[in-house]
Amino acid sequence: MLLQGKTAVISGAASRRGIGLATAKLFAAHGARVAILDLDLSAAHGAAASLGEGHLGLRCDVTDAEACNSSAAKVVESFGGIDILINNAGITEPVKTLGIDAKSWQRIIDVNLKGVLLLSQAVIPTMQRRGGGSIACMSSVSAQRGGGIFGGPHYSAAKAGVLGLAKAMAREFGPDGIRVNCVTPGLVETDITGDKLTPAMKADIIKGIPLGRLGAATDVANIYLFLASDLSAYVTGAVIDVNGGMLIH
Ligand code: NAD
Repeated sequence: MLLQGKTAVISGAASRRGIGLATAKLFAAHGARVAILDLDLSAAHGAAASLGEGHLGLRCDVTDAEACNSSAAKVVESFGGIDILINNAGITEPVKTLGIDAKSWQRIIDVNLKGVLLLSQAVIPTMQRRGGGSIACMSSVSAQRGGGIFGGPHYSAAKAGVLGLAKAMAREFGPDGIRVNCVTPGLVETDITGDKLTPAMKADIIKGIPLGRLGAATDVANIYLFLASDLSAYVTGAVIDVNGGMLIH
């Protein structure tokens, strides 16, 4: 039980096969009380109920500062404080540079990058009052290798922005006992790619993965657990690859 007595907020954790819900289940199994924040209220409720008693499901669009603030306030009201924030919500889109219009640029940057800022801003003051906390942010191998897997260049840019933002927050809030780290997964089998990732594309990607398979949501959840727990008490500003060796630096 690595998170006994801890409280966690996880964004983008209502989708059935997603990394967020796998993380919520793992955190609950390790003793945490979990608040699931997602776009759809009934999906968030259902996901929270699937964890057992005492968890929370809230509607929160992470691109909306007010929604982030009111969600953080509701979690504090229910749980008494927040120890862990997992900035996991994200969207992607397979387009190339010349096909990115202003609207899709804004949408991808807003959810993947601005959402990390807004939810962190909503949660950090309560962590400061509590004397510390752990924030883990979702980036991607796309940020490190310039895409070329599924998401477009705007997705790579947003996820690279997450790395810079998280490292800067790690530096700024270390003195408050707040650690901030990132995960950079390779291709993980969830529904984020919709039906646009064909079996042929998958087979082609697997050829470049030394461990010979795509990632599972639990592969990433396990790293979030490490970052959320005291096992990583002296780790901040770090980026942890979860990519089966797809990119070795
Ligand atoms: P997913 O689609 O199952 O989960 C994404 C979740 O985010 C969904 O529940 C969705 O409703 C939620 N969401 C979307 N926009 C939101 C918003 N504005 N506010 C709140 N919630 C919102 O996909 P996933 O693969 O589990 O993705 C989780 C994270 O992992 C994303 O940030 C994604 O970019 C990142 N990621 C995924 C992969 C992969 O291969 N699946 C690889 C690297 C990084």
